[in-house]
Formats: sequence, structure tokens, C-alpha cells
Amino acid sequence: MKNITIRSKITILFAISLLVISMILFLLLRYISGIVLYNTARNFLLSSVNANEDQIVYIQDGNSLKDVADSDFTIAYHEGYLAIDDDFLDVINNVYVALYSEDGNLIYGSNPLANQLRGETFVENTIREYQYEQTKYQIYERKVNVSGVDGLWLRGVMPLTVQDNQLQDITMIAIFILPILIALASLFAYFLSGRMLEPIRYIDKLSSEITHGTDLKRRIQLEGPDDEIHQLANTIDSMIGRLDEAFETEKQFTSDASHELRTPMSVIIAECEYILDKDREKEEYVDALRTILRQGSRMNGLINDMLDYTRMDQKAQNYPLSDVNLSSLVQEVGGEMALLKEKDISLEVEAEENIHILGNRTLLIRLLQNIISNSYRYGKEDGFIKVQLTSVDKKAVLSVEDNGQGIEEKALEHIFDRFYRAESSRTQKGTGLGLSMVKRIVDIHHAEIQVESKVNEGSLFQVTFEKM
Ligand code: ADP
Repeated sequence: MKNITIRSKITILFAISLLVISMILFLLLRYISGIVLYNTARNFLLSSVNANEDQIVYIQDGNSLKDVADSDFTIAYHEGYLAIDDDFLDVINNVYVALYSEDGNLIYGSNPLANQLRGETFVENTIREYQYEQTKYQIYERKVNVSGVDGLWLRGVMPLTVQDNQLQDITMIAIFILPILIALASLFAYFLSGRMLEPIRYIDKLSSEITHGTDLKRRIQLEGPDDEIHQLANTIDSMIGRLDEAFETEKQFTSDASHELRTPMSVIIAECEYILDKDREKEEYVDALRTILRQGSRMNGLINDMLDYTRMDQKAQNYPLSDVNLSSLVQEVGGEMALLKEKDISLEVEAEENIHILGNRTLLIRLLQNIISNSYRYGKEDGFIKVQLTSVDKKAVLSVEDNGQGIEEKALEHIFDRFYRAESSRTQKGTGLGLSMVKRIVDIHHAEIQVESKVNEGSLFQVTFEKM
């Protein structure tokens, strides 16, 4: 069955089940027909024998013979006579009835098994079966109840040829008709399963076209009822959609990254060409080297951030979530970052104790570091940074507030985009990847991030986690 198509498998299974069911039905039908036919025959045999009993009279007085009709059969028996009415039916509808004397001699009637049953003892009131050559017989015998004489027997014999022939006919019909019906039904099943599997062939064709082609914008978009096949097509469509999105993101990232790297690289090349153009003063060489170092460091920062970003983006599943004491983590990271003291900015940490969340320590440290280092980077001289962790109902709210340069309103909706840097920030160091990494970490934790900011007044970043 390994290499057989689903269509053929369905047809074969259907044909086998049909065959088994029809065999069972046929055997049942044959069995019931047998019972009905043989029972009818048996009842007919009984009634035919019993009816003939009334047609026998025993006459002891010879004078009374004159009262017997001419058409009746009379025979001397013992001291009297037996008179058998002409209504005695010795052969009727395949039932043979005969009257026997006590010693087993046939007195009147017919019996097709006369020779075979000669000398056999009579069995009172039972129907027995008898097989002679190819024919089955039913035999019924009973003592005759006629006043004045004892020991007479009636024997009914019925060959079951009609019933056997009828059963044989049923068998023959089944043998010829059933295979034809099964073949027709299987053909129909083959045709129908072909129709039912058509959408699957279409899905297969389109999926392989999409796999071997480059157009990830195509979709199966199966029409028709909302059945399992339709759901499968929808699942494949959304899978292709996800793939398309991932490829687009990848493409966008590569193009953004090349764009970001191109600027410092062009500056380095231009600076080198300028300085090597002719002999220069020592200060000029030093200036050029400083520019090259600055641009080189920028490229280095970009490459490091890009590596971090892509590593995290590709392997989110490599950062398993577990019970994290966010209170002590905030205290630790805040404490370490307070040591930076850039621009004489003070950093204050206020964290409610024992707040636990389901998270990843490494990612949460990076999230906090990125937000706090932005507050330093875009903060004012002698400014402040306030890191707070509070518990509100079932949520843990982590906030980082500064009184730095703030973010223009139109920039707010872009700050989480990759490589985005607000115009006012371009003079400071930075790669534009920090907050997109923060957003990714927030998503991995199924948390939410909100930003409030006013230019020249400061910014507030708030991350809300589900508490454990
Ligand atoms: P960058 O490397 O430029 O800091 P980020 O992704 O961390 O990149 O931030 C994106 C932009 O958001 C920054 O360039 C800056 O314009 C703005 N930004 C982020 N944090 C602050 C902040 N605390 N104060 C003012 N502007 C900020």
C-alpha cells in the first residue's frame, strides 16, 4: 500500500468494506429465506396430512357400505371396510400423502419414497428430513384417529426441490449481481474521491510552484466550503505569509544595515584619499586618523549591535523564561549603571521588593541597560534618571524617567523601528538598534511598553509585565 495514491486507497478500502457488508447481508438473507421457505413447506405438509385424516372412515358393518358414495375408495380391512373419500388428496402442491396399515403396507395414496422407506418404522408427530440422491425430503407421519380401528398411519412426503431451487436462485443472483454492483460502486467511489481530492492536488501544485519559484506573494486562496481541506489551505497561506514577512524583514534588514555601514565607510575612504593626495602636515595626518578612528568605532558599534540584534531575533527560543526576581535585578543593573556618572547625571533606583515575573534574566538586563544608557546619552548635564519598579494589581511596572532632551512627537512612533534615530539625536553616538531590541525583548515577555516624552523636558519609558 506504500506507493498507492490516496484515491486508490480510498477506492480499495471502499470496495473491500462493500464486499464484506454484501457478503454478510447475502448470508443473512439466504439464512432468513431458508427459514421462511422451509417453515412454509413444513406447515403445508402438516396441514395436508392432517386434512386427509378426515377423509378416512372405518365401516364395521358390511350393510352400511351402500351409504358410501361410488366415487369413494373402499377396501376390506380387518373385519370391516375402510372407505376413503375422493376428497383425499394424495398429491397436492408437491406434497404426497399415503395411508399405511399397521404393518407398514401402503393402502391408499402416493409416496415417491415408497421403496426407500419400506420397512421403516413410523415416528409419531415429528417432521424429519430425508436425503435421497440429490433431493432433500421432509417427512411427517401421524397415527390416524378413526373410530373403530387402530394402527393406521398417514405419511406425508414433501420433496424440497422448489425451496432448494429458490435458494439456489438467490445464490446465483448474488454471485452475478453483487460483483457488478460492487464494481459500479467502486468506480463511483474512485470518481468521487478524485473530485474530493482535487483541492489537495491544487494545493500541492501551487505550493510546489511557490517553493520552486520566487514569488512569495502568491496565495492558494481556496474557494468552496469551509471544510478541513479549506482550513489546510488557509494554514498553508498564513505559513507562506509568515515566510514572506520573514524574507521581507531579512531583506529590509540587509539593505538598512548596508546603508548604515556605507556612510562611515565612505567617510573613511574619502579621508584616506584626501590625506594620501599629497604630503601633509603632521596635524592633518592626526586629524585624519582621528576621523578614521571615529568612523571605525561607529562601524564597530553598528556591527556589534547588529550581531546582537540578529542573534536575538533568530533565536528567541534560546532564551527560556523562568522565575526572575525583577526587584533584585533592577537594583543590580541600576546600581551598576549609576557608576557611569556620564554628564554628572544622577541615577536613583526605587524598587518594591520581591516582585517576580516569568522572564529571561539576560534579556531583562539588556532591556534595562538599553533604556538607561539612552537616558544617559540623551540626558542633560547634571540631569537625573529615576528607575522605579512598582506592583499594580497583578502587574509589575518598570519605569525609567529622565529630564533629558526628549523626543519630538513625530519621532515617537518610529523610535522602535530598526536603525531609526530622531533628527535631534544624530549628533550623539548610537546605532538606532537599541530600542528595536528592547521592543523584541518586551514581545518575548508578552509585556507592553509605553513612552511619554516632551522635547527639552524629558522622557518616561514604562514596561508592564505580568507578575508571577
Ligand atoms: P540609538 O542608538 O540612536 O540610541 P535607539 O533605538 O536606542 O537608538 O533609540 C532610537 C531613537 O530614540 C534615538 O536615536 C533617540 O532619537 C530616541 N530616544 C531613545 N531614548 C531616548 C531618550 N531617553 N531621550 C530622548 N530620545 C531618546
